[in-house]
Amino acid sequence: MTSRCSDGFSTGRLTVDLGAIRANYRTVARRSAPAATAAVVKADAYGLGAARVAPALAREGCRDFFVAHLGEARVLANALPADAALYVLNGLAPGEEADAVTLGVIPVLNAPDQVRAWADAGRSVGRALPAALQVDSGMARLGLSADEALALADDAGLLGAIDLKLVMTHLARGDEPDEGLNDLQLQRFLALCERLPPAPRSIANSGGAFLAAGFRQDLVRPGVSLYGGAPHIGGAALASVATLDAPVIQTREIPAGTGIGYGHLATSDAPMRLATIGLGYADGWPRELTGRGSAWFEGAVLPFVGRVSMDSIILDIGALPAGALKAGDRVEVLGPNRPLDTVAEEAGTIAHEILARLGPRLRRVYVGEAA
Ligand SMILES: *Cc1c(COP(=O)(O)O)cnc(C)c1O
Repeated sequence: MTSRCSDGFSTGRLTVDLGAIRANYRTVARRSAPAATAAVVKADAYGLGAARVAPALAREGCRDFFVAHLGEARVLANALPADAALYVLNGLAPGEEADAVTLGVIPVLNAPDQVRAWADAGRSVGRALPAALQVDSGMARLGLSADEALALADDAGLLGAIDLKLVMTHLARGDEPDEGLNDLQLQRFLALCERLPPAPRSIANSGGAFLAAGFRQDLVRPGVSLYGGAPHIGGAALASVATLDAPVIQTREIPAGTGIGYGHLATSDAPMRLATIGLGYADGWPRELTGRGSAWFEGAVLPFVGRVSMDSIILDIGALPAGALKAGDRVEVLGPNRPLDTVAEEAGTIAHEILARLGPRLRRVYVGEAA
């Protein structure tokens, strides 16, 4: 048994194709026009690295960016063009207002208290500050209830103290095209918009952008589709963005009756050839893929055997000729041969979670665009 890492990467390597992200942005933007197309880059651009992804999208013409937290906005504020808008989806925690003003971000106000705090922040700097207002149209997660939105609509003093840049809501079942709730949420949203001061409107995430034209309104807010995930979009043919490969650390042959990995979850029925790769759940590769995931090498699908460990995974390499896979070779676990949506399904989750879990230990490499 040998152990070598010929290309200098002893860890998992995440290759992010910025050109593919830009191509996916164009696909969604074409589909969404005349609505403008934003980019949701929360959670470090779904694990892919917002500091590289957001500027690439800006070069493609994107001018509206969404993060979840003010801390994420801090990291990005200087990386975006001066005319870009940076929205904070979760709004501000009490006390964050001054920092948000300095950064020039646009909070998404989700509750009456947040509206009042932002109006106060504006009064203290002598101007109405830009804000987005989220209303809850049927998800019960974030945003003003219909009653709260109507009360605000009648409060001219409070409304006059904020500069309303966007009114938005979020779909609970936007990835289910035939779901009647989508139309109901759209109707409720538009009815509330009629009562509020005129402002651009936004309802659609990736799923919503591919529903009927009425869901596009003025601004669509795709996230996962920019990064290549879209189980329900089918025909739109998004490009594969993220490729994750991992090095083979060692290979071995075992006789029949050998217990494999933690808990001996698997036992060989016959002699087997195995390879152990340097990737595990500490890298964000789901332990749920135990017994269900696989890797790809030169046309062969190599199933995971036994438990996914913290730093390693054991593969059954019987599909390859003996000696074809050696220590130092790299196998693909995500990418063109292991599509994101397939991996997500195997792990019992969605593409969003597979990407967002990708950990800091992975080496991120950017391709598809001049540095
Ligand atoms: C995360 C998020 C999005 C993007 O959703 P995708 O399914 O990744 O396109 C859009 N809007 C809001 C409010 C979100 O929280």
